[in-house]
Amino acid sequence: MTVTNQEFDAVIIGGGPAGLSCAIWCKDLGLDAVLIEKNADFGGNLHNIYNPIDNYPGLATANGREMSERFLDHAKRSGTLLRTSCCAVRVDPVSKTVELGDKTNLSSRAIVFATGVRRRKLGVEGEEDFEGRGILRSGSTSVDLVAGKTVAIVGGGDAALENAVMLSKTAAKLYVIHRGDRLSARSQFIDIATTAPNVTILLGHKVTSINGSGSIESIDVENVRDKTSRSLSIDHLLIRIGVEPNAELFRGIIKTDNNGYAEVNSRCETSVAGIYAIGDVADPIAPTISSAVGHGAIVAKVIRSSSRSLQNGSFVLR
Ligand SMILES: Cc1cc2nc3c(=O)[nH]c(=O)nc-3n(C[C@H](O)[C@H](O)[C@H](O)COP(=O)(O)OP(=O)(O)OC[C@H]3O[C@@H](n4cnc5c(N)ncnc54)[C@H](O)[C@@H]3O)c2cc1C
Repeated sequence: MTVTNQEFDAVIIGGGPAGLSCAIWCKDLGLDAVLIEKNADFGGNLHNIYNPIDNYPGLATANGREMSERFLDHAKRSGTLLRTSCCAVRVDPVSKTVELGDKTNLSSRAIVFATGVRRRKLGVEGEEDFEGRGILRSGSTSVDLVAGKTVAIVGGGDAALENAVMLSKTAAKLYVIHRGDRLSARSQFIDIATTAPNVTILLGHKVTSINGSGSIESIDVENVRDKTSRSLSIDHLLIRIGVEPNAELFRGIIKTDNNGYAEVNSRCETSVAGIYAIGDVADPIAPTISSAVGHGAIVAKVIRSSSRSLQNGSFVLR
């Protein structure tokens, strides 16, 4: 980075749809912004969408990667400063400074958190060891891989049951393991999964460890009521137990809800003046590409109007 001494109008942290949209809008409104993304590629969770995307107005793509390329092309054309492999590690809410992993500091008048969400993990023994060695990243791309194999899917919502429907078409045996008493997925998925002859649904059970040498051989599951345990022989595991916000950077700085999501008003303003949050990290109700992109536009407009009322070096929020 060669931007240490520059003061930006906005530092946007997170290069998913929300951050990319914000970057485009900032340039359009004449704001001097930099967008930083910790991964090597922009796009955020778009990279985890392997199916066609049919619900973004005017831009249907074969998958999320294609959509992220279209968004990135546009952001590049806008001319906003874009940086990948650039992780924000600390934010100073008073000086509005963002510290990067390489110890560079970015100084700005506004900070925008667009850090998105990540899949929740089980937090059990073996989970890190078998990442990519038996733990599946995606159900839809693993239909052939699991042919004739035994698969366990953890979770009881749409993501778990939709994958159960998909994978049960080729897997020899499939377990759905859910710690709750009832499945919360759409009935269309539950109906198919519960009547498939090769699917066993284990309600009121949780996975306590993932075992094997080299690749997954079994999981231990515990009955949450009577605490009895048993081992299930499996070849693959898919974990779909929801998501959690990437909130580490702002925890303790801005107000969050009970689940750690950033609390914002309709202008994407957080509880601290000059700090904003957009996209999924601020939106547990409707986490979609459309709303993330919309937030990016809102926040750029709000920063622009706030900078117009800048007095004596500090923001006056309208
Ligand atoms: C399987 C799947 C299917 C989906 N299907 C659809 C669909 O059909 N239609 C739809 O509208 N939505 C869909 N979504 C949701 C959609 O992907 C999200 O709503 C959207 O990606 C949110 O964008 P975002 O920019 O808020 O966050 P994200 O896309 O999560 O991007 C956040 C970015 O911030 C980066 N980041 C985090 N911390 C830091 C840091 N400290 N420093 C720098 N960078 C950081 C992350 O690396 C990431 O790139 C789907 C999601 C998934 C997982």
